[in-house]
Amino acid sequence: MKMFYNAIIIGAGVAGNRVAEILSKKGLRVLVVEEHLKVGLPKKCTGLVSQRIKEILPNLDEEIFLNEIRVGSFIFGDKTFELRPKTKLYVIDRVKLDHFLFERASSNGAEYKFGERFTRAKVLNDRVIVETTKGRYEGDILIGADGAFSTVAKNFGLFEEGEFFIGLQSTVKGNYEKDRMEIWFGEDIAPNFFAWVVPLDSKNARVGLATKKNTLLYLKKFMRKRTKTFVEPDTCGIIKFGLIKKTVSNRVLLVGDAAMQVKPFTGGGIIYSLIASEVASLSILKAFKNKNYTEKFLTRNYEKIWREKLESGIRRGLMLRKIFYSFSDISIYIWFSVIPYFKTILENIDYDLL
Ligand SMILES: Cc1cc2nc3c(=O)[nH]c(=O)nc-3n(C[C@H](O)[C@H](O)[C@H](O)COP(=O)(O)OP(=O)(O)OC[C@H]3O[C@@H](n4cnc5c(N)ncnc54)[C@H](O)[C@@H]3O)c2cc1C
Repeated sequence: MKMFYNAIIIGAGVAGNRVAEILSKKGLRVLVVEEHLKVGLPKKCTGLVSQRIKEILPNLDEEIFLNEIRVGSFIFGDKTFELRPKTKLYVIDRVKLDHFLFERASSNGAEYKFGERFTRAKVLNDRVIVETTKGRYEGDILIGADGAFSTVAKNFGLFEEGEFFIGLQSTVKGNYEKDRMEIWFGEDIAPNFFAWVVPLDSKNARVGLATKKNTLLYLKKFMRKRTKTFVEPDTCGIIKFGLIKKTVSNRVLLVGDAAMQVKPFTGGGIIYSLIASEVASLSILKAFKNKNYTEKFLTRNYEKIWREKLESGIRRGLMLRKIFYSFSDISIYIWFSVIPYFKTILENIDYDLL
């Protein structure tokens, strides 16, 4: 007999696994379809998150936390200013985070299909029919947690280009101050974005940057300048952001990068994905209880609520980007002379609202 699922999730990233974990815990029949063969791989993240991760996932294994960052050095040309944020920042093992959520979802009974790619779906009155490269599945609702180039979003006319950058990162040996990350700005470093050095300990750091094009060339140049070496990248991904118009339609919902739930200034998406995944899961549980999967219901119970939580942060980040990157390098140089006077304000800022 063909299995009917309550929720079919495309993508086993942080968003897909978190939704799978919550729904399966409540007894829903959940299927997750992932095009890659292993959870968390290939690697696509630096793993820098605020302490909010411990509030959202209080039972996270300690081994997921690799390092704690207490100081940020912001560098432009020969100017540097330093911030010591009041709240903690952690460097986490992103692969292990995805695994942690996957294992919990699996042990709750969520079913996973790896090496299988979503191709298209059709919504009928009483169900959604999902096709992949290997099969055909039916369910109550389809969740697009399939990242920046979401095929689910494209299938249902929800896809938006947004603004996107290609991110590349290597793990580089050297001598680092364990609790100090570096953020480098400048047209010659990473136009309209930045380069980062995020230590894992005093001997290893994640060194990367994001640009719209020629990313590898910029990375080589930056690494030679900063670390006097070049190490092949081990992490690659798309950073896409903007304010999406719509994230639901009948029996369909987008979450995570697929819904552009990403901080525009820093490109961080883990915390926003986790927050939105919880809202999505609660709305699906409510839809299941009410047997109502209409766009109207999902708008009221998912879209409206995630926007209340995240939209002001996204808008603030977009505005900050617009102001910051509209200046020429010379003006940014002047900013770097002035910004230290706002040190106290900046140190008290909520990292998740940038
Ligand atoms: C270089 C880089 C560094 C970053 N650093 C940070 C950081 O330090 N902190 C932070 O908070 N965020 C960071 N981010 C952003 C963060 O990685 C994302 O916001 C986060 O991964 C979003 O999770 P997600 O589950 O929505 O999407 P993803 O993690 O992209 O997961 C989507 C999943 O869907 C699968 N998929 C896609 N299409 C299909 C299909 N058709 N069929 C089946 N499966 C499919 C993919 O294989 C993937 O596993 C970084 C991003 C990059 C690129």
